[in-house]
Amino acid sequence: MDCLFCKIVAGEIPAHKIYEDDQVIAFNDIAPQAPVHFLVIPKKHIATLHDLSENDDKVLAGHILFTAQRLAEAQGCQEGFRVVMNCNDLGGQTVYHIHMHVLGQRQLHWPPG
Ligand code: C5P
Repeated sequence: MDCLFCKIVAGEIPAHKIYEDDQVIAFNDIAPQAPVHFLVIPKKHIATLHDLSENDDKVLAGHILFTAQRLAEAQGCQEGFRVVMNCNDLGGQTVYHIHMHVLGQRQLHWPPG
């Protein structure tokens, strides 16, 4: 499968990993938009949020969120941070393997662009 993030999971493309377990990995975004900007991704290939299954992926979805929470806190984001999951073209998704962005350590504004 020609998926960039599956290749990162497989170790075929380098990434600055900050966490890994049997279900997820987290790595620093290659084009950071804040002093803290990392991605939490499932090891399982799921192309978009539309493809996340309420039956099969509920535990995994929770694990992605709590991994983001724990790593954000470990990176000093106690005063606040943002999680973002872009879905499909209109949502600004560019890599079709779901990922949770975690951004922190600067003042973030609303609405995003
Ligand atoms: O949500 P979206 O699909 O637009 O985000 C993809 C993210 O993946 C971008 O922030 C991009 O910088 C990041 N990326 C990365 N490492 C790569 C390719 C993309 O961190 N090798």
